[in-house]
Amino acid sequence: MNVYIPLASKYRPQKFADVIGQDVAIKIITCGMQKNRLGAALLFSGTHGVGKTTIARILAKAFRCEEYDRGDPEPCCRCASCLGFASDNQTDVVETDAASNTSVDDVREIIESCQYRPISGRYRIFIIDEVHMLSKSAFNALLKTLEEPPSHVKFLLATTETHKIPETILSRVLRFDLKKVDLSLVAQYLSSICNQEHISASAEALSLIAGAGDGSIRDSLSILDQAINMSANNELTAQNVRDMLGVSDDTDIIELLKLILSSNLKDSIAQYRSIIKSNISPHMVVRRLIDCIYILACLKTNVEPQENALSENALPQLRELSNAASLPALSRVWQMLLKGVEELKLCDHPEVVLEMILTRISYASGLPDLHEIINAFSGVREKCTARKPDNAISSNSLFDDAQKMFPDATIC
Ligand SMILES: [Zn+2]
Repeated sequence: MNVYIPLASKYRPQKFADVIGQDVAIKIITCGMQKNRLGAALLFSGTHGVGKTTIARILAKAFRCEEYDRGDPEPCCRCASCLGFASDNQTDVVETDAASNTSVDDVREIIESCQYRPISGRYRIFIIDEVHMLSKSAFNALLKTLEEPPSHVKFLLATTETHKIPETILSRVLRFDLKKVDLSLVAQYLSSICNQEHISASAEALSLIAGAGDGSIRDSLSILDQAINMSANNELTAQNVRDMLGVSDDTDIIELLKLILSSNLKDSIAQYRSIIKSNISPHMVVRRLIDCIYILACLKTNVEPQENALSENALPQLRELSNAASLPALSRVWQMLLKGVEELKLCDHPEVVLEMILTRISYASGLPDLHEIINAFSGVREKCTARKPDNAISSNSLFDDAQKMFPDATIC
């Protein structure tokens, strides 16, 4: 019987070229390797599952590759050293998880072993995962070695929380802030994995999985693993995935939209918190809100909606909601949600970021749009004109005044 290997382990990249969505970092690393200009300590930061440890391991392999001098920064994957990585047999590479080895004694052990030259190859390499968990005295002990590292030693550090690392350490490392991976790129990657696994998956199903993975390759592959387990005949449909993710019914998200459009901030936040409690990522919440706005706009303009990721029960509920907001107001919410998608990628705490985005949208939903403002001004103008015909106000100047007074309002 075959041993089951999770997809995230089975398809863990072995070369820089296999890493998904971190082109800038990979370019800097490979150019630095070619010019031999990478320092003794590198730090990889970013949320979980974006490739920090994976890149550190590939880099360790590349540093120790016996064909290091051949001019190609990629590890050759065929020399004795590279093959040692494949079989987990590398005495000169020490990988530590600082989450369970936080004390100064743990770091001293590493520092003492730094003085020994590698048994084979040119470098001894220390990979320290979750390095922010080290104690203050452990960081101080590490600092001395980072200031004057032996030439045969490389430190590859990884963290999800850079702000917890002392400035003195940060100033001595080459930093790489890895971003969440673009969702369309994740969906493409999942599609290539499905091809290799002989799984038939619809684009919508993969897009739902990528959205739920929220830019983390590891999470996305783990969700794909679960979806494959639950699928019948190795076929993944959007409905299977929706059922598995607990988003087969969009009532919760439509309720949230209703509260936002009525500027009910307090209840909006409460509804949002209740949604994310069921393990639905903030990114998924935004995505579903965007889909709802799209359907509402189609309903208001009598346009047939294109295929979307909402469930079958969403349309009748959205039809009921279609009178709750004007087309300009929907357009405004749409723009703010799209901007929110970008903001979610920039911060390590998407749950909090989305609360701020909802606050902004909820506030803006209560603002009048330019049509309403101009109509209000027109009423004033008529009164002024009736009183002083020689001193009539031009509609252009009313429009300019309205724009100055309500800079947030949308032009219809
Ligand atoms: Zn090699």
